[in-house]
Amino acid sequence: MNNFTYTRATSVKDAAQRASTDQNAMFIAGGTNLVDRLKVFLDEPSQLIDISRLQMQRIERTANGGLRLGALVTNTAVADYPDIRRDYPMLSRAILSGASQQIRNMATVGGNLLQRTRCPYYYDTAFPCNKRQPGSGCPALTGINRMHAILGASEQCLAVHPSDMCIALAALDAVVEVEGTKGKRQIPFTDFHRLPGNTPQRDTNLEPGELITAVVLPPIPFAKSGVYLKLRDRASYAFALISVAAAVDLEGERIKDVRLAIGGVAHKPWRATEAEKFLIGKPVNTETFQQAAEIALRGAKPLTHNGFKVEMTKRAIRRALTVSAKGGGVA
Ligand code: SF4
Repeated sequence: MNNFTYTRATSVKDAAQRASTDQNAMFIAGGTNLVDRLKVFLDEPSQLIDISRLQMQRIERTANGGLRLGALVTNTAVADYPDIRRDYPMLSRAILSGASQQIRNMATVGGNLLQRTRCPYYYDTAFPCNKRQPGSGCPALTGINRMHAILGASEQCLAVHPSDMCIALAALDAVVEVEGTKGKRQIPFTDFHRLPGNTPQRDTNLEPGELITAVVLPPIPFAKSGVYLKLRDRASYAFALISVAAAVDLEGERIKDVRLAIGGVAHKPWRATEAEKFLIGKPVNTETFQQAAEIALRGAKPLTHNGFKVEMTKRAIRRALTVSAKGGGVA
């Protein structure tokens, strides 16, 4: 194990400044994924910058009626927040479907966005892994790839993004606020995470030293009928085989607007924009939802062991859209 220093940041600027001068520095807040990685030497930082006491622990109304979630608000606090349960129920349900109560009590908004894939080869240093060590190879290509990606993967990496919360945030058009030594910027949620391409070691578009300060939810009135459907091997404490976040807005019997994102299928939360475009103006019925599901999975490339995900995802999309169109609830 490498020795590392531990410092407690006094402000966001201080944290960003410290990180910008040391490319091997890492931020730590709840530590629910990072500490696991440190224990098995996946990360060997030169310093840990503790940001857990910075003032980013509030949920606030924005001027346009949305919500701003501070980066250090715990997952439990987000899931339990009355306005989120009422206005963005898919977000609350997505969070509650992930991890355990103890982990959700520690895990933060910012950390949830930055958790890394749970590809078993990534965590087992007896195997090579392009994400861990670029150019070393990807054993999942020929190994057990039941949990891996069917959309947007590359020869370099087939891993999937592990978060439930992020699938709901992608559907809800969230915006990530970040700050670094060059100032503040906002990143649309669907641009925050990356596909693997030739750089699977990079999960996000954060620049070195940048810190997530908040995630902003825009007002989406029909998100009240949003649903989150997660399919997994066991009923709790399991990552998604696939998941769907969906919200449908109706005008009479036709679809006026819709949000649709899929988890467990790609290296990043997968927003099904083509399927959304197709759905606008269509009548609400099973045929419409089936066609949308077909469009969403059009580019799917299943691997040796995960062909089942294609049909499973289509059925889940149909189910989630149907439940949301009926007013929402448990999908
Ligand atoms: Fe590593 Fe990605 Fe291959 Fe998993 S799928 S072994 S994370 S390169």
